[in-house]
Amino acid sequence: MPIDATLPYDDSNIFARILRGEIPAKTVYEDEHAFAFHDIQPQAPTHILVIPRGPYASWDDFSAKASEAEIAGFVRAVGKVARDHGLVEPGYRLLANTGGHGGQEVPHLHVHLFGGKALGPMLAR
Ligand code: 5GP
Repeated sequence: MPIDATLPYDDSNIFARILRGEIPAKTVYEDEHAFAFHDIQPQAPTHILVIPRGPYASWDDFSAKASEAEIAGFVRAVGKVARDHGLVEPGYRLLANTGGHGGQEVPHLHVHLFGGKALGPMLAR
């Protein structure tokens, strides 16, 4: 069920629980501002989720409220994960579902990083 992106941050969401170590995740990268782990239901040979550590529900929330350091740290982490997984030369796709029409299901900002094969058209037709 897609979320309502206008609701306040809910720290019981599954990614908040992963950040607190209450639920296991296959971590691939972490630093002061970001955390990255394999998606539990991968939709490509490489399917990694990169999330900020801070309590931001969506791309909208993050872009409006996060500090410059948090934004820089998060963006750099996404790029580093892609480089570390050898995805730059073959190419990859980033996706941040946002709110209802975006189909966002977990109300903590996450960027999907897909790669490992030619990914086809951007949206289902
Ligand atoms: P959204 O539709 O919100 O953009 O994507 C949420 C993603 O989170 C989905 O791809 C889903 O497979 C993934 N996901 C949901 N629950 C868990 C979980 O407990 N662990 C991990 N690693 N991924 C999850």
